[in-house]
Amino acid sequence: PETITVQELAQRMAMRAVDLVKELMKQGQMVTANATLDADTAELIAVELGHSVKRVAEADIEEGLFGPPDDPADMKPRPPVVTVMGHVDHGKTSLLDALRQTDVVAREAGGITQHIGAYQVELEGGRKITFLDTPGHAAFTQMRARGAQVTDIVVLVVAADDSIMPQTVEAISHARAAGVPIIVAINKIDRPDADPQRVRTDLLQHEIQVESLGGDVQDVEVSALKKQNLDGLLEAILLQAELLELKANPDRAAEGSVVEARLDKGRGPVATFLIQRGALKRGDVVVVGSEWGKIRALIDERGQQLSQALPAQPVEVLGLDGVPEPGDRFAVVESEARAREIAEYRQRKKREKASAKTAGAASLEQMMAQ
Ligand code: GDP
Ligand code: MG
Repeated sequence: PETITVQELAQRMAMRAVDLVKELMKQGQMVTANATLDADTAELIAVELGHSVKRVAEADIEEGLFGPPDDPADMKPRPPVVTVMGHVDHGKTSLLDALRQTDVVAREAGGITQHIGAYQVELEGGRKITFLDTPGHAAFTQMRARGAQVTDIVVLVVAADDSIMPQTVEAISHARAAGVPIIVAINKIDRPDADPQRVRTDLLQHEIQVESLGGDVQDVEVSALKKQNLDGLLEAILLQAELLELKANPDRAAEGSVVEARLDKGRGPVATFLIQRGALKRGDVVVVGSEWGKIRALIDERGQQLSQALPAQPVEVLGLDGVPEPGDRFAVVESEARAREIAEYRQRKKREKASAKTAGAASLEQMMAQ
């Protein structure tokens, strides 16, 4: 049954909840602001208060928020998005730091200076690769659980002196579940006790057969510490990306996912978006999770303001009314009114879910008490 809380109804009529409660009292309805009204009652009171009512089926509210698939003719090649995974201490953070320094633009413009949860490197010849800088399997699964499929390629870091460990196995199964191809980075080859061949043979037990053993998984020996063979790893990523034929339409309203988000004391809600299709522009109105906002600024990992961000580009955005969650998807909508409507609808859903949970917990407690 369709219902609405007194609070919500008041908000939609741009009046205070207390005043609506008073109105309802006048009509003999003793309710609080948190009470729910059925749709007929709500419509009656709204009309009496001089509002016109349009009932919208809930499913219609979000209808068309995410656009239909693009015409193949509009699709253009886009950079790959890479996640680095592996066992603790095998060198994920070191490798991400080392790769960050391969950026050619950075050499001129003072480098990648900000941590925004993802960064894009530009290589000689202009090719680009985006790295999600939130290593950790939790982030990966959380994003996937929220419906965000952002990673194209997983770089599995395995320390050559330690070989396969529990979180290596975990990472393999995450990548498999997501259907994402793996490139094995055999790290720490500078160590005297490094045994890269052991890593290759150990991987066989997890159904990963590297090329040198007759399989089709690329493996690259690197040292994140000594910055050895990073070019080899980048080449492997670009080759894999070519095989995947990654494409997106850059000429449409933007859609994508939240990589990370937080509340900044001075700037308010700050989120890092990964663009997945279209171009996100300053001034665009977005819905993201149960928040919305008009994009006030787009800032890249070098701290520079952008006028737009393109597919596979990570960008920090300002202007949201609240803090979304990693993995929340965003879409540009045509008006602030529509953005607000969808965000409010989702917030209401969230509250309903939360209160249903509390109610459930209470009844369980009552049951236990008996
Ligand atoms: P993470 O837990 O996977 O993020 O691993 P870290 O990047 O924090 O690295 C763990 C430790 O291994 C640190 O002490 C690094 O300095 C060291 N380390 C990382 N990469 C290499 C490497 O290529 N060679 C050597 N010898 N040590 C490394
Ligand atoms: Mg780390």
